[in-house]
Amino acid sequence: MDCTFCKIVAGDIPSNIRYRDDDVVAFRDINPQAPVHVLIVPKEHITLLSDLTKEQLALVGHMVSVANQLARSEGVCDSGYRVVINCGYQGGQLVPHLHMHLLGGRNLSGTLG
Ligand code: AMP
Ligand code: ZN
Repeated sequence: MDCTFCKIVAGDIPSNIRYRDDDVVAFRDINPQAPVHVLIVPKEHITLLSDLTKEQLALVGHMVSVANQLARSEGVCDSGYRVVINCGYQGGQLVPHLHMHLLGGRNLSGTLG
């Protein structure tokens, strides 16, 4: 499948990997919007948040857990951070493979949308 994030998961496109386990990979965003900007990506190709089945909902909980862990390891846990999942065109989703943004390291207040 011609999917950028599937290629990153497979190691076919280089990326700055910060975390990996059986279910997800996390890597630095190529165009960071904050000093800490990491993408948490399921290994399985799921296109949209809205595609998630009931059985797959635990995956999102796991992605939040990984984001919390990364916030600690990246040093933004105490200062605060944001997690975002964009869904679809008007949601601002550019890459059609489900992913969660972890943003931190600067004041993000007033920047939603
Ligand atoms: P979204 O708008 O939610 O789909 O976010 C997609 C994100 O993926 C953007 O912040 C891009 O900068 C990022 N991105 C696209 N291609 C790559 C890549 N090859 N490596 C790392 N990040 C990427
Ligand atoms: Zn994919």
